[in-house]
Amino acid sequence: MDSLKEENKSVSGYEVPIGVSARHVHLTQADVETLFGKGYTLTKKKELMGGQFASNELVTIVGLKLRAIENVRILGPVRKASQVEISATDAVKLGVKAPLRESGDLKGSAPIALVGPCGAIYLKEGCIVAKRHIHMSPTDATRAGVKNGDVVSVKVDNERATIFNNVVIRVDPSFTLEMHIDTDEANAAKITTGMTAELIR
Ligand SMILES: [Zn+2]
Repeated sequence: MDSLKEENKSVSGYEVPIGVSARHVHLTQADVETLFGKGYTLTKKKELMGGQFASNELVTIVGLKLRAIENVRILGPVRKASQVEISATDAVKLGVKAPLRESGDLKGSAPIALVGPCGAIYLKEGCIVAKRHIHMSPTDATRAGVKNGDVVSVKVDNERATIFNNVVIRVDPSFTLEMHIDTDEANAAKITTGMTAELIR
């Protein structure tokens, strides 16, 4: 097997719960204060995996063609860079050319404006469509036969029986096992949060 070093070693049949990610925003503390007022801190609505939380705070996002989407939720805690994650359908609606990226890979991504109750900000870059990915702890990764940065394929055996390729593996001790897809992917494949995907070779 020496000639097949690049062979996919993932464990076929390894099951991963699916979480559907709605459009959302990550903000720096400075941007939180511009949008919500000086000294403001995000308030927790619901705990998410990896120490993240859905906040109670919402913003309106506006593309350069002045088309907007209201009530976009902010995820905490605050980050080093502000980022807007939308679906491909949202990108069409907003008239924004958002590239398909991994979270945090923002260089050269699309510009977007955000409006809050106390102010507005303009991001020269930061709007992306998130690449589908699987969060895993190191233990899960060992069991699944994968490592951070691997790209795998999964199948979902529901009514529409969809195979997803180009799924990025992300490993961190703080992560709970979960595959994240966006609302476009979920709706097209008739998937809801809590359904299961299986690794395939
Ligand atoms: Zn995720």
